[in-house]
Amino acid sequence: MRSPLIAGNWKMNGSLALVEQFGEAFADANVPPDVSIALMLPFPYLAVAQRALSGTPMAWGGQTLHDQRSGAFTGEVSGSMLVEFGARYVLIGHSERRAMFHEDDAAVLARVSAALDVGLTPVVCVGETLAEREAGRTEDVVLKQVDVVFSGIDAEARERLVIAYEPVWAIGTGKTASPDQAQAIHASIRAHVEQYSVALAAGLHVLYGGSMKAANAAELLAQPDIDGGLIGGASLQVDEFLAICQSAG
Ligand code: PEP
Repeated sequence: MRSPLIAGNWKMNGSLALVEQFGEAFADANVPPDVSIALMLPFPYLAVAQRALSGTPMAWGGQTLHDQRSGAFTGEVSGSMLVEFGARYVLIGHSERRAMFHEDDAAVLARVSAALDVGLTPVVCVGETLAEREAGRTEDVVLKQVDVVFSGIDAEARERLVIAYEPVWAIGTGKTASPDQAQAIHASIRAHVEQYSVALAAGLHVLYGGSMKAANAAELLAQPDIDGGLIGGASLQVDEFLAICQSAG
């Protein structure tokens, strides 16, 4: 019912040459037809992505956006600019944005609304820190982050969200949540979203992110409430990312 979505997050990594390499490799790669694939790229690479990834099964997107359409916001990029470059997705509220760029709940909600306004699919990242997990607060923290977004938009808009559960302690650390740990929180997110609508919860894509790689992807993606992956480090290598996409089919 929920076909998998595998999304790469290059963060501030990669090169124009690497975008071209992905374009060439995925043009005739053997990827399962029911798996959606996307790369969240640094802004300057979007123009090349629009050419090099067209004709591949891969979509592309940004890693953040500003909440206003235009104006005196030096250094920022709007959703309509992403759309001009063919972006279909945008990451919002990645833990690095929350921690390093001070994106709080209000900022996350404003960005989600801005993305929806221009037709982008927001991939909203939620997740607990190690201290929060050790204090037994994982569910509280994650479900609150989910509620901030779901309670701030209307029913039709809720249908267009993707959630990425990314335990902060697993991002870029090589420590992956075990399939059971990840499944438990994914199931809690889905059960919690039922309060908005049972059908919404059943159709909601909840991706797992945090040191996912080819070697552990199949086991994580086999969990009933894990509907795909958000992949950082391992999305920078064509063969590794392709293997993850293949294990989702
Ligand atoms: C991420 O940045 O969203 C991420 C999951 O990174 P990594 O796969 O490198 O842990």
